[in-house]
Amino acid sequence: MVKYDKFLIKIARKGVFGKALRFIPGYSFRMIHYWPENNFKWTDKKVTFCLSFDCDNKEDEDAFPCLMDILGYHNIKSSFAVCGQRVEESPDAYRLLIKSGHEIMNHGYSKHSQAFPDGKVLSTLFYNDLDEKKIFDEIRNNHHIVKDVLGYDMVGFRTPHFGTFQKREQILLIHSILKRVGYLYDSSALMITAKGLNLLNASNFIEFPLTSIVGLPDSVFDSWGFLKAADRARRDGDFVKYFKMMIDVALKSRRPILLNIYLDPSHIINFEGFKITLDYLDMASDYIFNDTYRNLLIK
Ligand SMILES: [Zn+2]
Repeated sequence: MVKYDKFLIKIARKGVFGKALRFIPGYSFRMIHYWPENNFKWTDKKVTFCLSFDCDNKEDEDAFPCLMDILGYHNIKSSFAVCGQRVEESPDAYRLLIKSGHEIMNHGYSKHSQAFPDGKVLSTLFYNDLDEKKIFDEIRNNHHIVKDVLGYDMVGFRTPHFGTFQKREQILLIHSILKRVGYLYDSSALMITAKGLNLLNASNFIEFPLTSIVGLPDSVFDSWGFLKAADRARRDGDFVKYFKMMIDVALKSRRPILLNIYLDPSHIINFEGFKITLDYLDMASDYIFNDTYRNLLIK
């Protein structure tokens, strides 16, 4: 079965066969998001749901208080990827996340994007422009800043703008650096990349890969693509539609499934559809387990 999966994932990545697989979106989604690495005492529920937020600019921090209320109401535990330069500027914003019981994860020391009041966002730093030493310094410096300012020991990492950092050698480089700094996990690869590259076996390091859109195995499910990107093909309502579809498809699986969704706080805070999706998740809570990456590993 495992070999058969690998073959299908290979063809799902490209070519005519990949296109053909999109005609059976539910099956191919379950196949790609099947996650047998459930040996961390995760849960006996069939579906594990992780929610994470990348905190890139002030607009994201402004959303935290309201976001804490929403997540608290739905009893969702999330992981927040943070940059040291932002933590130094507004430590209280990040203290609130810790106080509310969420996880903080390493997102590199330097700011890597800038948002403007008109909604435009400029990406300012890509890891494919950095050499190994610079990446190591970004991760290690951020660890020390967060420890000094917030008194918090991070154990996991997400690569800034990870969409441009999906090559095998790039992800293996991140894994080797994270091992050197004593981290427990990474969450920077798309599920199809992680499986297609057989990452777990290649580096012997835990990767929580990010979930793709049902029927579009190489497109990550994110708030940017659904709600913000200037050239997006999808409408706001599609966020809710595809989220519900993802849950429905996952619940039909007979094998363990990892759903790992990341969003930007500022994108979803005034978006009514976000609450609708959490209501939907609530309804399936008998079958879906939610916790932070950290708790899944060391609780
Ligand atoms: Zn980011």
